Amino acid sequence: MKLGVLALQGDVREHISALNDCGVDARPVRTSAEISSIDGLIIPGGESTTIAKLARSFDLFDLISGRIREGLPTYGSCAGMILLANELVDGAEGQETFGGLDVKVRRNAFGRQVDSFETDLDFLGLGSVHAVFIRAPWVETLNSRVEVLAAVEIDGVSHPVAVRQKSILATSFHPELTGDNRVHRYFVTEIFHSS
Ligand code: GLN
Repeated sequence: MKLGVLALQGDVREHISALNDCGVDARPVRTSAEISSIDGLIIPGGESTTIAKLARSFDLFDLISGRIREGLPTYGSCAGMILLANELVDGAEGQETFGGLDVKVRRNAFGRQVDSFETDLDFLGLGSVHAVFIRAPWVETLNSRVEVLAAVEIDGVSHPVAVRQKSILATSFHPELTGDNRVHRYFVTEIFHSS
């Protein structure tokens, strides 16, 4: 079983070391041969427009999108969540996503004043998780196929920041930056190894 981290842009190394800490061998993937050969994919945090444009220009976009939609176990953090959304709110003009997750995601949802912040979340099945948000998205709307694993409440409104739909996991925050690898372990045991 091969797990790849999409290595076009973003915090690829941090995801690889979080996975290594869980005892999983993961490699950076950036060619169509590499992407065709993996059994699971991580889309890192970074800049979603850049990752999508690079995927287009290296002719990887349809391959990645197709594999995710066919059920490839996939986890996206932050920009990765944006890239997994079927629909975007406040995306850049013409911004494309790989899709697969039946949600509408609001890009840069927390606003300029709170570009980056940290908080403790109650993550379903994991308990309290310290979460780092950097120009993060949230899930604006979702359908019944999507399970909410964690949310942030602002002014009495709950905004999902961790969701799962079958083989796809997405978080608005960056567990790869905190040294707490429970979210990666959740992906590996509940999704990657069980599909
Ligand atoms: N705001 C970034 C984007 O739109 C995501 C930020 C992140 O991944 N930390 O891609």
